[in-house]
Amino acid sequence: MLREVLENIERRSRFVLTSHARPDGDAIGSALACCEILRCMGKDADVVLHDAVPRIYQPLPFADRVVQADRVNGSYDAAIILECDSIQRTRLEGLENRFLISIDHHVSGRPFAHVNWIEPAATATAELVFRLAREAGVKITPEIATCLYTALMTDTGSFMFRGTNEHTFALARELALAGADPAHCARNIYFAHSTAKMRLLGAALSNLHREGPLAWIWITREQMERSQAKEEDCEGLVNYALSIGDVEIAVFFREMADGRYRVSLRSKGALNVAQIAEELGGGGHECASGCSMDGPLSVAVARILEKVRAGFPVE
Ligand code: 5GP
Repeated sequence: MLREVLENIERRSRFVLTSHARPDGDAIGSALACCEILRCMGKDADVVLHDAVPRIYQPLPFADRVVQADRVNGSYDAAIILECDSIQRTRLEGLENRFLISIDHHVSGRPFAHVNWIEPAATATAELVFRLAREAGVKITPEIATCLYTALMTDTGSFMFRGTNEHTFALARELALAGADPAHCARNIYFAHSTAKMRLLGAALSNLHREGPLAWIWITREQMERSQAKEEDCEGLVNYALSIGDVEIAVFFREMADGRYRVSLRSKGALNVAQIAEELGGGGHECASGCSMDGPLSVAVARILEKVRAGFPVE
């Protein structure tokens, strides 16, 4: 598959790269690195995302190249969609009639493009982008290494999530050798929160609920407004609920402007939360997944709990 992706890149000149809306570290880091790799190959390449680069990823090299738009315009020969399992999740218009290449590592990854390189065994899409650079003979510069290391670090939960293995550390070593500074990357991500995010964390934890091995928290629109928080400030809040000793599954609900809820599911490994998210129209990984649900909150919570209880009987 790697060869097929590379051949399709080699025979084209102009590329647009994108990823899912509300981009996380792997989405941003992989897209920025892949864009630079294509440029090193002599191609024209732009990164277009539906949402702005979240504040913690703004220090990444090339982050200022990202174009924020609702629609992809321009005469590109192909679109490369990274870390994303459908055109819909990009929330971009103007991709439908283009030649599409998908590079992804989600278990829920579906072959929606003309060329689909989906490897659930890869710890992050960054790993696939690294292999692409190697295959293309592109030197990994310190800037590319920084983008890929940040993607790897965030998608593995700082090398703590299940699936982190010797290959993950081998890749981290390669990236450090190529010039990524692990302490600098970590500082930019984990010690760079906004005050609003900390206020939001307080509000979310004051809504902490438990049932056996489950914990769930939520944030209302009103709490978002009161904390002057942005959507991106919600990233990672679910992990605080998961960090409780006897919690196996944690769920975070965020009320959206239309009254629906964005749901983040996390598992320590006893339950496959990708399956639950897929049943509800979302997707993700066995230990980290998400979906959107209709409100009110009590109904959304009840539906999730029913699915969690079915898969993970609560005494
Ligand atoms: P988060 O809870 O951080 O938003 O997402 C966790 C993981 O699930 C990420 O890998 C993300 O890409 C995936 N994910 C979240 N929401 C959705 C969704 O609505 N659809 C799909 N297919 N994947 C999702």
